[in-house]
Amino acid sequence: MKFFDSHAHYYDEKFAGADDIISALLSSTVSGMINVGTDPDNSITASEQAKRHPGMFAAAGIHPTDGQNIADIYAALDRISALLADPGSKCVAIGEIGLDYHYPDTDRKKQTEIFLAQIEMAKKTDLPVIIHDRDAHGDIFDILVHEKELRAVLHSFSGSAESAKEYARRGYMISFSGTITFKNAPRVREAAEAVPMDQLLIETDCPYLAPHPLRGTVNHSGNLVYTNRALSLVKGITEEECAALTEANAKRFFGIDK
Ligand SMILES: [Zn+2]
Repeated sequence: MKFFDSHAHYYDEKFAGADDIISALLSSTVSGMINVGTDPDNSITASEQAKRHPGMFAAAGIHPTDGQNIADIYAALDRISALLADPGSKCVAIGEIGLDYHYPDTDRKKQTEIFLAQIEMAKKTDLPVIIHDRDAHGDIFDILVHEKELRAVLHSFSGSAESAKEYARRGYMISFSGTITFKNAPRVREAAEAVPMDQLLIETDCPYLAPHPLRGTVNHSGNLVYTNRALSLVKGITEEECAALTEANAKRFFGIDK
């Protein structure tokens, strides 16, 4: 059984010797992975890593928290555009982008401006987007609900079952991370229950969000076995069916050929 990791950060400093780790995972339990950037520099690194591994693809984008600390945001957006325009970059999505109201010093206005600029970029390039939504459920929903041609995945979904249903009804994909295995997160499992089979993805968000029983350790794509198991139980399907389903969904959504 193999798993497709729809959201990982293998350029993170916690992954010393990342190329060996990635090769080992892709030759064992991982069928593919999306290496997701959060700023121009690490988006370029994510793309460089993807070029070295056939099963790895990249996403380039500016994360809301990173973005609000960038002085010349237009230059940063230009660098993302240039990377996306390079046909050899292996970039299959724009991300991660969105809103993050977790920290008290949040510049909501600047975050929104950066988010909207990248949504326009997605429409121009016809690429899907990976949405980061932390403590910003209402504002993210208000923006996405008005988009008609946008293809998006809500990554590490943490909203309600009701909002999962609303997103799914509009054709958006919903991705579940290790939080679906947490004992104190029944809401996440309720949300997963509400998502149609063909709109489900799984992810690690590694090195973060290691699933139960590995919470607190450096996460990696091999740990998807726990996340996949939790999702299969919620959906009443076998682990094999769940792994195959989420892999097929990811490949279709990101436009990755077999
Ligand atoms: Zn992430």
